[in-house]
Amino acid sequence: MRVWVGIDDTDSSRGMCTTYLATLIMERVESELGRVEGFPRLIRLNPTIPYKTRGNGAVSFLVDVEDREDLMEVVNEVVLEHAMIEDENTDPGVVFVDDDLALKLKSFADRAMKDVVMLDEALFLIGKYFIPHLKYKKGRGLIGALAAVGAELNDHTLELIAYRYPEKFGTEREYDEESFFDMDFELYPLTFDNVDWCNEKVVCIPNTPCPVLYGLRGESVEALYDALDMIRTEPYDRKMIFITNHATDMHIIDTDRISITGLENYRSYKVTGRVTGEPYDIEGGHVFFEIDTRFGEIKCAAFEPTKQFRNIIRQLRPGDEVEVYGSMKKDTINLEKIRIVKLAKVYVERNPICAICGKRMESAGKGQGFRCRKCKTRASRKVKELLSREIETGFYEVPPSARRHLSRPLIRMDGDKRHIFR
Ligand SMILES: [Zn+2]
Repeated sequence: MRVWVGIDDTDSSRGMCTTYLATLIMERVESELGRVEGFPRLIRLNPTIPYKTRGNGAVSFLVDVEDREDLMEVVNEVVLEHAMIEDENTDPGVVFVDDDLALKLKSFADRAMKDVVMLDEALFLIGKYFIPHLKYKKGRGLIGALAAVGAELNDHTLELIAYRYPEKFGTEREYDEESFFDMDFELYPLTFDNVDWCNEKVVCIPNTPCPVLYGLRGESVEALYDALDMIRTEPYDRKMIFITNHATDMHIIDTDRISITGLENYRSYKVTGRVTGEPYDIEGGHVFFEIDTRFGEIKCAAFEPTKQFRNIIRQLRPGDEVEVYGSMKKDTINLEKIRIVKLAKVYVERNPICAICGKRMESAGKGQGFRCRKCKTRASRKVKELLSREIETGFYEVPPSARRHLSRPLIRMDGDKRHIFR
């Protein structure tokens, strides 16, 4: 029988990783019970959920086994041995969904990526379809487990995750930084978002105590294996390629296409609007501005970690037409990217220019107008000049070090002028 296994919420900030646990389960299945079909899937859910685990990612994979009871027993053993069940915020859940039932979970999965889904809804579906499952403690992981099985991937990318030897867990990772930049230089954009050139950071290596050595992002299996050959690190214990919804914008609700009456916190949107005031910095290097939209005035933010992206935002002026992408938190859109649709004409008042020598006149004294000392020309008032804008229209994005798993980088998008932060 072909069964989808969905699993979530087995890790905590102190260790483990659901992808690792799933990898251990798949190894056990292959050696004892049957076959794993194709690649496993790593599905990131709504990134703004307040009670999420670190990356809010769930895993699913399809197996062909003789007996579901045996499968459930193996899974239960691995979960009990490896999940961080003693952690107060870890509530694992596993579902075992018949292959032909997975389609029925599609809309639930879509909501789990975009919306706030309650555990009751997951339990309702499990009851409705008699879905065999394993629930530990509160079993909150059942939400992600069902979503990972049901998620429809119209777009996808791949991630090759290499895991450390267990005795290394929690220790500092050894790797040659330069080799990651060389790899990116060679393979980009077939591999992407593994390093951040401007901020000189390798972003595909976590610094948590989890089992992951690195997670390489790419568009094809071939490119990922090429990358594997080029990077130099401590030896890995095992590795697995996951099909993911990373870099797809699947969390974004497009308000131009979906009719909603208002924006809510803990959701992510694409919204169009017009800048209403000058952008302003607050302490800590965070930059804010407001836009007027069909939902009213909305505050947008480019926080300090978005680094050079803030310099773009600081150049916005009232009247600019923009399309913002990001998550709503505390009634503020946290920008992931922006499209400047149209730049407003901004005028500034300046001293007039001398018609003879072409230099700017100086003040002739209070209320006395302006004069050119050299040519003796005079003028009575300041002139309005068109401000030359430091930015142009098109897409701008946060750098890879500030990019979310789900955010689609501009290199993966078509269209208008793209200002890519690689
Ligand atoms: Zn002059």
